[in-house]
Order: sequence, then structure tokens, then C-alpha cells
Amino acid sequence: MTDETQALDGLDDEIRKLTYDDFVEFLNTAGATACEACGADEWGISMEEGSDSLLSIGQIVSVRKPSSSVWLLHTTCQRCGNMRIFNANRITKWVLNGKPEIQQDAQ
Ligand SMILES: [Zn+2]
Repeated sequence: MTDETQALDGLDDEIRKLTYDDFVEFLNTAGATACEACGADEWGISMEEGSDSLLSIGQIVSVRKPSSSVWLLHTTCQRCGNMRIFNANRITKWVLNGKPEIQQDAQ
């Protein structure tokens, strides 16, 4: 029996290297917006206990297809607790691609 959740896109080692600064830079590049629930604009990022640079990385596990599971990072609104979840695979690919500009849709 193998643990398929450990082989997601072959990026798991790279995902573990994501830093707080990488995530903040990604959020700013992607166009961080105010909380859709309460309008506040102050977000918190979970960190590994005892670390000031290692992000707390979670996982959404597909019960039916573990190989489709997703590593995730999240931010929490400091006023209402609303959470935004980001696919860590995508952020890792963004870092590995040299952190390119992210196209914004016109509003
Ligand atoms: Zn909020």
C-alpha cells in the first residue's frame, strides 16, 4: 500500500519550502482584497509553531481519490474569522516560475 497523497504533482518537497514572505508576496501580487464577509482588510497567516518563516501547510484530502488531494495555505480575517484557502501547489509553481505578475481582471 502506498500513500498517494505524498506524490502530488511531485511538488511536495518544494511546497514545504514556501515561506511567509513567499505567501505574502503572492497575495499582494494576486491582488489581496478586503474580506467579503465583513469588509475588514487585515489578514492573518498561520505559521508553524516556533517558527517565524515556515508556513502552516494543510491538506484537503479526497476521500474517493487520494491522488487528487490538495496542499493548502490559508489566511484568516482578523475581525470575523472568515478563511480564504489557497492551493499551495499553484503558489509553489508561481515561485518556481520566478514569481511572474498575475493578470488582474478589470472590475
Ligand atoms: Zn472578515
